[in-house]
Amino acid sequence: MANVRDEFKINALRDVGMYECVCLECGNKFKGLPVDNIECPACRSRNISRK
Ligand SMILES: [Zn+2]
Repeated sequence: MANVRDEFKINALRDVGMYECVCLECGNKFKGLPVDNIECPACRSRNISRK
């Protein structure tokens, strides 16, 4: 039984330590972990720009 408060907490935890990433190959925007070998979930490119 998940209520709204639980979902809010899950979303907050999910954002901790995540970077806003933009794929320079296909323009896909996603959130990724701060690791060196991150790749685009859409096209698998590693040409990623991170903020
Ligand atoms: Zn891409």
